[in-house]
Amino acid sequence: MIGKEVLNQLTAYKQGMQIQEVKRKYQIDKIVKLASNENPYGFSKQVSTFFSSMEQEFEIYPDGYAYDLRVSLAEKLKVNESQLVFGGGSDEVITLICRAFLHEGTNTIMAAPTFSQYRHHALIEGAKLKEVPTVNGKHDLPKMAQAIDEQTKVVWLCTPDNPTGEMIVKEQFEAFMQQCPRDVIVVVDEAYYEFVAKENQFDLNRNLAQYDNLIVLRTFSKIYGLAGLRVGYGIANETIAEKLNIVRGPFNVSSIAQRAAVIALDDEQFVQTTKKLNDQVKQAFQQFLDEINWKYYETHTNFILVETPIDADEASLYLLKHGFIVRPGTLLGYPDTMRITIGKEEDMLQLQTIIKKMQDEIR
Ligand SMILES: *Cc1c(COP(=O)(O)O)cnc(C)c1O
Repeated sequence: MIGKEVLNQLTAYKQGMQIQEVKRKYQIDKIVKLASNENPYGFSKQVSTFFSSMEQEFEIYPDGYAYDLRVSLAEKLKVNESQLVFGGGSDEVITLICRAFLHEGTNTIMAAPTFSQYRHHALIEGAKLKEVPTVNGKHDLPKMAQAIDEQTKVVWLCTPDNPTGEMIVKEQFEAFMQQCPRDVIVVVDEAYYEFVAKENQFDLNRNLAQYDNLIVLRTFSKIYGLAGLRVGYGIANETIAEKLNIVRGPFNVSSIAQRAAVIALDDEQFVQTTKKLNDQVKQAFQQFLDEINWKYYETHTNFILVETPIDADEASLYLLKHGFIVRPGTLLGYPDTMRITIGKEEDMLQLQTIIKKMQDEIR
């Protein structure tokens, strides 16, 4: 046997179908990918301008310190530069956290189901999992707090959660943090932070000041529309950030990704427009689901987890054959659901037509 024994129980990440793959297989020209919560409006025009005039020195390693991005982000978030850790997507920051803080003999607490990467990398590091079942798609924070013991090193909170889109309310978070010992690290994954209504967003600076065991994860992959470039980050107190930077590879974020992130960060208008359009289209789609009597989870993101009256794999395959890639809930721990990214208005209207047709055909 080669490799860690736990690798025999795990599989490589199963990604959603790729656009070209579906085109080839089903001979369809136009494919709408609503499977990975990418931004249907693309990314800031200013990033395109940068790419068209790009004079990069590809032979030079990127700045491992990500100076420009670090300075811009620290200023925007009102934190110290030393509180930031960058990764090739926040996915990489998750692996850094596991690598730095988990090993055999330790355990880690997370909701089940939730975003799959916490579990995956914790197991690879040899930690035991304490998975606390969600209740109606929400984290059960009192039970998660109860699960903490002497060996617990990291607790993962995903808010809004993927795949349900449900969020943790501030009061529950507060109550949890009060109960959580200070030597247990709490990771708050806010990949969809910018989609959350202002009044529901956690106060980053207050929480960092209050809790020195906190790591907040954010990303440029979702609202900023830069998923293909791979850049995300963690924000924590300096001691934790320093530990993560020791684990981090020296040049882990490419120079292009750093440049694009700095430019994207500056285009607040693009973020606001995306949020507004997402809210509008989401509301219209929810209204449609109400009309056809399909249930769904309350979402604070750019995706929605929908309960399907027919087998979810069958429903997803039907949509696939009609040019829409969605994520069947069977892969996400919620059987009988599909996770659908909120696309552009015209695409979502077409999706509605196809869903209606599917219902008629199946009845
Ligand atoms: C998409 C996502 C991430 C990872 O995004 P990156 O592209 O790696 O930055 C992390 N957590 C959650 C909950 C996500 O949905």
